[in-house]
Amino acid sequence: MLTNPRGFCAGVSMAVDVVDQVLDLYKGRAVYVYHEIVHNRHVVGRLRERGAVFVDRIDQVPAGSIVLFSAHGVPPSVRDEARARGLTQIDATCPLVTKVHSEAVRYARQGYQVLLVGHADHQEVVGTRGEAPEATQVVERVEDIQGLTIRDPERLVYLTQTTLSTDDAGVVIAALKRAFPGIKEPPSSDICYATTNRQHAVRTLAPECDLVLVVGSKNSSNSVRLTEIARNVGRAAFLLDDAGEIDWGWFATGKEKVLLTAGASAPEDLVAEISRSLLERFGGTIEQRDVVEEDAYFALPAELRRQMRARGIDADSRRIHVAAPTITPERYGAVPLTVSARK
Ligand code: SF4
Repeated sequence: MLTNPRGFCAGVSMAVDVVDQVLDLYKGRAVYVYHEIVHNRHVVGRLRERGAVFVDRIDQVPAGSIVLFSAHGVPPSVRDEARARGLTQIDATCPLVTKVHSEAVRYARQGYQVLLVGHADHQEVVGTRGEAPEATQVVERVEDIQGLTIRDPERLVYLTQTTLSTDDAGVVIAALKRAFPGIKEPPSSDICYATTNRQHAVRTLAPECDLVLVVGSKNSSNSVRLTEIARNVGRAAFLLDDAGEIDWGWFATGKEKVLLTAGASAPEDLVAEISRSLLERFGGTIEQRDVVEEDAYFALPAELRRQMRARGIDADSRRIHVAAPTITPERYGAVPLTVSARK
């Protein structure tokens, strides 16, 4: 069974498209990308083959070069460092991450302390915290709450990383509300639509299956969360980058129905490859279950649009559109397919 939605979200599609566009625009020049553009080994490998150079520090980028910032965002200190080196900056930060940055800045300016629920070492959290470092403390788990330094419990707001498990974040947020009843909430959920929808699909469909396979890299937060959601509903779940990582031992005790999904940074062709491998070995059919309909559009970053316009390319009408993945015989093989109505 395949979940819909699965795989690429609008932010990842936009970020990957940005690298492709910049590589096309600047043929022959080195294009540097600060950190992995998205957390997927295959996506990064393909862009590296096209010529992108991935770096972990801005001082690795030669002065005057082009640098791209990844979908996870960067703290202002990184932008300042890039400016000081005279780099052309193209920002592929997902707009939904930028929204959380803006909230952190706005609340800090209003005198709030920001409790940022998320994983302290994740690039997105590093970026958001960097917007208001004096005002922000990271809360990874409930036990962290007792160690917080609170000035005024009536001037507190919580924000969250966009790719958290809605189950786990809910537990931490409930504990924050118990500890600080006056804590303010973000205007709308910071956990993004793609994370929420992919988790909802797994939570809905996993109970009907014997085993859950999540396509994604080990450092992809939202992919890891999907395996956790499946385990939370009592199903064995494994995270794998590609078909080469299938462990046939997972099927030793007669798993008949497999749920296949993919994190927001995992390309559809890897999902198809895994599906083909399973069907070649075991036979069977594909059922795609539509749980949430997604139809997201993001614009390209302003600096890239400016550079494209300068070269006579129509950038303003270009939108990154992500719709439901289609199952074609070329990708998935000629197997019996059913696509069910939305639940
Ligand atoms: S997972 Fe959400 S926040 Fe992250 S890039 Fe995708 S849409 Fe943006």
